[in-house]
Formats: sequence, C-alpha cells, structure tokens
Amino acid sequence: MFAFQETRGAVEVAFTDRQGGVFAGELDLAEPAVDDPDRESMLARLEENLDIVGHAVVRGAEATGDNPFELPQGARVPTVVRMRQVHGADVHVVDRTWLDARHADLPVGDGLVTDLPGVVLMVRVADCVPVLLADAEHRVVGAAHAGRPGLVAGIVPATVARMRDLGADRIVAWLGPHVCGSCYEVPGEMREEVAAVVPEAYAETSWATPAVDVGAGVVAQLEKLGVEVVDASRCTLETDDLYSYRRDGAAAGRLGGLVWVRP
Ligand SMILES: [Zn+2]
Repeated sequence: MFAFQETRGAVEVAFTDRQGGVFAGELDLAEPAVDDPDRESMLARLEENLDIVGHAVVRGAEATGDNPFELPQGARVPTVVRMRQVHGADVHVVDRTWLDARHADLPVGDGLVTDLPGVVLMVRVADCVPVLLADAEHRVVGAAHAGRPGLVAGIVPATVARMRDLGADRIVAWLGPHVCGSCYEVPGEMREEVAAVVPEAYAETSWATPAVDVGAGVVAQLEKLGVEVVDASRCTLETDDLYSYRRDGAAAGRLGGLVWVRP
C-alpha cells in the first residue's frame, strides 16, 4: 500500500506504491482520460482505490487491527482532494468555500494547501517528484507535483508561499518516489535550460549522458526557503512496485502522495 508513511504530530504523510488496489491488486490512482471509452468503470475503480488509500492515511502509520476501513474514534470518512495536474505553478488554497464549490470538473493546478483538518490532499506522479509539506504545530499542510517543467516554474516555492500565507512557519517537506538523476536522461540542450534556472538539477546518467535531477533541484529550492527536507524517495524507474512513465510508457499508472491533519 505505502512506499513510505510517517506520523508527525497531528499530521500523516504517505506515498503509495502499486500494491493493494481493487483491480488486479493494482493501487493505480491515475485519472482516466476524458475520451476513454472505459471511463465510467475506470472512474469507479479510482474511487474505490481512493477510498482504500484515504482510510489508510486516516488510520495512520501506527494503525493496528485487520479491518482496513476501521477509523480512529471520532474520525469521519476522509475527503481526498485531487486535481488535474498540468506541470504549472498554480496552487489551490482548499478552504470551506473551495470545498463547497463541488467542482464539476477537476480543478487544474499542481499544488494544494489547506489548514482544514480532516481533508486529505493528494498529488499523483509516475516519475515526477511528489512533495508533501507540513507545519505540524500550526496545522497547515501542502502537496505539490514537481516534474521538470514544474521545477523550472517554481511550483514548490509557490506552495510554500501559500502555506506561509496560512500561518505556516516551521515547514517540513517529504520528497517522495521519483525517477532519479542517474536515470532521467534528457537532451543536452534541455539540461542547460533547466540548470540555467536551478543549477543543482544538472546531472549525468549512470551511462554518462546528459540528465536532470529534479529531486536535487527541489531540495535546493526548499533549503533556500529554510524548509527541512525528509528524503522518502526511491527511484521509480528502478523499482518495479512503483509506477514509472519512463519504464511503462503512456499506460503507466500513478502513485499518490497524501497528507492530512488530524481533526
Ligand atoms: Zn534511477
């Protein structure tokens, strides 16, 4: 179910893997394409997988017992907030008004922040960097989807800024599974373009060709902002029980990064 899970104060963070889903055991959290002929049944499967994951996050890293849907006393069935990610730098502040809007279409963006307890924020990736953020004391959390374009566009600093608007002060960031700098080959020109904005992302593959290390770039951005970083990453391309676009192609599933503040 989880590649990584941690409880920090009132905050739960988790990154999923491929195991424990409803379809052939796959915990795929991908959003079906709008024009997919199989969209309805895929959406139904997604909802079931989200339900499984949402409950597991709310149960927490120290949950015991056999019933995966048993929630801690007083906990409500979690709302898992997700978005249509577009490799940009737009961040949604999830407040009561935002939730009540009951968006007919998925909101478009690459970052989510909230100070509402009981709301699970989720980002989805297959090789991009999922970043979860929390100020456990001030009970403000965030989630960002940072691929190569998002790194350059500054989605992670934008998410940190929105959290600070909500009163976050001492922020911790968890870096989830993504394709590592030794595997992420790009044309030399592309490496130059990224490194011109974030020099720390300059990398080389294990076979000595140009590469981008998006994770290293994100860490550099976070450290400049005084954010403590927890490295919860593994290379998606090198790890079979994680989804990888570079390995599996366009049909690759998506893993999730989820963060939640206990009510
Ligand atoms: Zn790798």
